[in-house]
Amino acid sequence: MHDIGLEEIEAVKQVIEGKQFMRYRGGEGGFTEQFETALCKKVGVKHALTLNSGTSALVAALAALGIGPGDEVIVPAYTWVATALAPVAVGAVPVLAEINETLTIDPEDIRKKITPYTKAIIPVHIRNLPCDMDAIMAIADEFNLKVVEDACQAVGGMYKGKRLGSIGHVGAFSFNMYKNITCGEGGALLTDDNKIYERALIYHDTGAYTRDHASEMSEPFFAGLNLRVSEIQGALLGVQLKRLDGFLDALRERTALAKSILKSSSAFNVTAHNDPESAASISMTFETKEEVKENLSPLINSGRHVYTNWEPIMKQRVFHEKMSPYKWANREIKYTDDMCPKTLDILERTCAFDFPFDMPMEEIKQKAEELF
Ligand SMILES: *Cc1c(COP(=O)(O)O)cnc(C)c1O
Repeated sequence: MHDIGLEEIEAVKQVIEGKQFMRYRGGEGGFTEQFETALCKKVGVKHALTLNSGTSALVAALAALGIGPGDEVIVPAYTWVATALAPVAVGAVPVLAEINETLTIDPEDIRKKITPYTKAIIPVHIRNLPCDMDAIMAIADEFNLKVVEDACQAVGGMYKGKRLGSIGHVGAFSFNMYKNITCGEGGALLTDDNKIYERALIYHDTGAYTRDHASEMSEPFFAGLNLRVSEIQGALLGVQLKRLDGFLDALRERTALAKSILKSSSAFNVTAHNDPESAASISMTFETKEEVKENLSPLINSGRHVYTNWEPIMKQRVFHEKMSPYKWANREIKYTDDMCPKTLDILERTCAFDFPFDMPMEEIKQKAEELF
């Protein structure tokens, strides 16, 4: 599903010929740093940090915000399990909230899930669909919560003229093979906040205190991990970033064509979208699950993104008993299969219209007409 070509091969070749694979060896200013500068400009944020995965970006974001044992983090019940595992990795617990018809977290349900222990919300822009960020940021302001945008599935996407990942206090991208741009495995953290950036930088690099930039930092160094990327990833991402807007425009153009056909169907509604102008994907919502057409597969069937299948979360299983965040929680946290019924109902009667970014327009038209 990606746009990849000779330029990527050329970039990797340059890294290999230069024999400089690590970003913090032989001075700074290499491929990864150039990518981060370009990413900041593209997304409209002050700081970007490249990490080895989107999961690492989410965990580093929570660590940078100082979230830990005793804290609760609200996540949607429909997302890749990494969103829910990130709080667990820092000793906090995920609290699940329903999605609404837009397939993104329901702001009304966020309100219901807030307790005195809630510290953050992780809205997920799933399938290139933006969350209702105006409502989410208003709730965060009201309750003094931090917002970590999980834009792993929506790199480059927009919400009301702003790039996803630049609206909350921190944003997280993934560059694994399924995402809008890729370097195999990779991620990025985005923020305007100096303190969050410095703390993420420290957390992601065991040797942070030894680097050239160490003397310029104002945050004290603390124990971190190694979540760094290699220059091969940085070089690949530099090229991929140049392709991002073309890739998204191709999706938008095809989405608009499909919508122009599907919107007049009486069998279903085109799924509600929080910023229809920038839509880069399209789904169909049926009134009831019985009405779903036979040639369509509802999203509930893509099981791994549904909370009921997140085994390590549902079983509250971690690598060591004494490290269980559920023991440090301020109240008993229980997960049951029926805890988010609205999410299950919506996923049972919503079907995606998926297509590759380069599918010929004529074929999009044909496919849409078949569904209509
Ligand atoms: C892919 C993804 C992640 C994690 O990204 P990795 O790079 O695979 O670690 C997190 N959240 C969502 C919604 C994702 O789709």
